[in-house]
Amino acid sequence: MNGYLIFILALLVFSWLISLIVETLNVRNLSTEIPAEFQGVYDDEKYAQSQRYLKDNTRFGQVQAGIMLPLTIAFILLGGFRWINNLAQAASEHMIVQGLVFGGILILIGQIIGLPFSIYSTFVIEEKYGFNKTTWKTFVLDILKGLLLTVLLGAPIFALILWIFSSVANAWLWAWGALSVIQLFILFIAPVVILPLFNKFTPLEAGELRSEIEEFADAQKYKLSGIFKIDGSKRSTKSNAYFTGFGKTKRIALFDTLIEKHTTGELVGVLAHEIGHCKLGHIKKSIVISLASSLMMFFILSLFITKGGLYAAFGIDSTPLYAGLIFFGFLYAPISMILGIAGNILSRKHEFEADAFAAETTNEPGEMISALKKLSVDNLSNLTPHPLKVFLEYSHPPVLERIKALRGFETTNSH
Ligand SMILES: [Zn+2]
Repeated sequence: MNGYLIFILALLVFSWLISLIVETLNVRNLSTEIPAEFQGVYDDEKYAQSQRYLKDNTRFGQVQAGIMLPLTIAFILLGGFRWINNLAQAASEHMIVQGLVFGGILILIGQIIGLPFSIYSTFVIEEKYGFNKTTWKTFVLDILKGLLLTVLLGAPIFALILWIFSSVANAWLWAWGALSVIQLFILFIAPVVILPLFNKFTPLEAGELRSEIEEFADAQKYKLSGIFKIDGSKRSTKSNAYFTGFGKTKRIALFDTLIEKHTTGELVGVLAHEIGHCKLGHIKKSIVISLASSLMMFFILSLFITKGGLYAAFGIDSTPLYAGLIFFGFLYAPISMILGIAGNILSRKHEFEADAFAAETTNEPGEMISALKKLSVDNLSNLTPHPLKVFLEYSHPPVLERIKALRGFETTNSH
């Protein structure tokens, strides 16, 4: 048996096993007792509901993984990739066209298999807990818009990479350079071109909230280029806030659901946290790290892309580049998992720093604490995730840890 095949199959089973263990530990870590910080915020019924929500989602994830694992393995072993490659080669003589057909078929298969899961998650689980606001029309339009973006952005990028690898020396370096420029460009235009396809952005109207935010930004010498309200309520009652774009397109988006449920003081706290990310250089840092890790990925890719054994593992006896790019993804999974964990460690550190920034600059850590509590209850967040789950997957520290850190700022001021 092919060494690459053994390695890849072992990886698939191993990562499924890890996730099974982590999820089981996570559910076992639930306790029926409401943590002291949340007594009076959660009532017994609502707290029990948050735990049922976690259990439902966990079970759903395990069913999904339990179906996807054998399906993926069967697809590899039964020559699914060979079959798609034959279709691609029958479609055209030209390698780049073959690559687009190959990638296109894979994406379609992925969409079709993913569809029932996505429907169940949105219209059964989220619906059951009163979160879902997505209509069937929005649901279908979201899929179509996603596919449109794949065709308009994904296909030309994939074609460009294939062209570079088939015609330039040191292709990995050129491909990385080209992709980095494109990525930065997409990041730049996303807030004005891509995100508005999915949500309506309206500048936050003048009033108490807007002037308080502006006053805070002025005090921090932070140039606000845009504060927008977005219609998150179109899909879910869950609330959020985020930072997007850079330079001239830099903007802060507040979900309408967030504005509706929070006081001005709490919202200024949330905004201060987001501005903290920017002021502390977190956004620049993550862009640099992501470019560096993709440089490493392209280098490792260049070592394997010509290895016939990798293609043979998937039942293909030639070495079509487009297929090699996909197969390499299977091989790279462990490195990408390690990078993901490292990225989460850094992200959690940044979250603490942004919280500290908000607490110090607003001098109102209590407002942040109360915003975090409301967000947790409204989104039925898990208050007691297992430490291993946090270590592997959490981009934000568990809410109780964030509150504990914020409490440290309370003792130093009079509020
Ligand atoms: Zn944050």
